[in-house]
Amino acid sequence: MTDVPADPTSTGTGAGAPTLDPLLLEIVVCPACRADLDLRRPEPARVELACRGCGLVYPVVDGIPVLLVDEARRP
Ligand SMILES: [Zn+2]
Repeated sequence: MTDVPADPTSTGTGAGAPTLDPLLLEIVVCPACRADLDLRRPEPARVELACRGCGLVYPVVDGIPVLLVDEARRP
């Protein structure tokens, strides 16, 4: 019988650098023009979503995209 030691690193979710669930990224679209959004990382500790259509940039707060035209930056 083989001993299988618990590996504490295998369950780490990497709470640190912000990111976005890839599945979430696939389903969200720009609320202004319905185009796909690209994930951007302008700073190591910050991510945002840029629209491929109209170019608006939406902030991501705590991993949650804020898809509000009022909160987006104009290109
Ligand atoms: Zn757009």
